[in-house]
Amino acid sequence: MTPKIASFLASRPATPCLVLDLDQVAENFVRLHAALPAAAIYYAVKANPAPEILRLLVKAGSCFDAASLPEIEACLAAGANAETISFGNTVKKPSAIARAHAHGVPLYAFDSAEELEKIATHAPGAKIYCRLAVRNEGAEWPLSKKFGTTLEKARELMLAAPGLGLVPHGLSFHVGSQQTGTLAYELAIAEAAMLFTDLKDAGLPMSMLNLGGGFPVRYLKDVPQADSFGAAIMAALIKHFGNDLPNILIEPGRAMVGNAGVVAAEAVLICRRMPEDERRWVYLDIGRYGGLAETEGEAIRYRITAGDGPAGPVVLAGPSCDGVDVMYEKSPYQLPLDLKSGDTVLIHDTGAYVTSYASQSFNGFAPLAEHYI
Ligand SMILES: *Cc1c(COP(=O)(O)O)cnc(C)c1O
Repeated sequence: MTPKIASFLASRPATPCLVLDLDQVAENFVRLHAALPAAAIYYAVKANPAPEILRLLVKAGSCFDAASLPEIEACLAAGANAETISFGNTVKKPSAIARAHAHGVPLYAFDSAEELEKIATHAPGAKIYCRLAVRNEGAEWPLSKKFGTTLEKARELMLAAPGLGLVPHGLSFHVGSQQTGTLAYELAIAEAAMLFTDLKDAGLPMSMLNLGGGFPVRYLKDVPQADSFGAAIMAALIKHFGNDLPNILIEPGRAMVGNAGVVAAEAVLICRRMPEDERRWVYLDIGRYGGLAETEGEAIRYRITAGDGPAGPVVLAGPSCDGVDVMYEKSPYQLPLDLKSGDTVLIHDTGAYVTSYASQSFNGFAPLAEHYI
């Protein structure tokens, strides 16, 4: 936790709330850029679309990966030039494509013939890039099944694009979010390079490779630093593309904002459920529906603290009347033995994928309050 967040929390804001240090985001942008200077950064807006973050990143010189028309319009409202926005969702409403095109958004992702046709109709002349399905091993929040296509299909679709009045611009992939190793990038770059060569030989040279997001945040376990990813990616690019490097894009979401935020929560109830279970159940005023959606399957395990006293095992649950609103039952969490109702519990590194997942008003609980400092 940064000193700025600690001093804000000392004023005891109403919980639950996210407190996010914008200086940390600025630092993350610089660090990501330094790790891979050859790449243009397209911030994945869905990780945290707060206007404060978008405005900061516009000033820092970031570009943006938007998944929907409202995200595109949020970037424009924050001062982003339409030229710097990529419409990166492979699933877009025709009306959203048309509006994005009218705004001047130049780049569109697709992974199916049907989406390519929609782009051709509603954004004639646009630059398009095809998303490849790549292996997501090593990712704690995989994205593989829902998106991407094969090399063969991508080749066929890219070759068809000029006939539809579109400009075949490049390829993309996503190695899965919270990707804990560099190998997935290396394998994906090797595959993409084969298709670059193939298409060039077929008379269709491409100019862009979008490496997606995936860069991890340190939650409970150590993960490689941005520098290690940068070095491994650069080595793979040189190995497979030689001196003929395309324009490289990266789309960090989690790594841009995750470590910049802390959720302050309150312990609402602490009790034992079964006599034979020594663990206490700790019910917080935030749960799955309050924004901790990535605790689904206990996939993302946040660091959680509540003072330094001697600790014992706990199950962590949310405040709603829903049986699946349990965050951690299998993962071995511990909290102080003297924790009592009303005490503050901190959930660390929650700047990404928390506020944007909070439900509207389930059980009457308002969406998570947000403080950008
Ligand atoms: C979600 C997403 C990202 C961001 O992924 P992170 O793992 O948060 O870095 C980037 N690109 C696309 C297309 C995405 O869907």
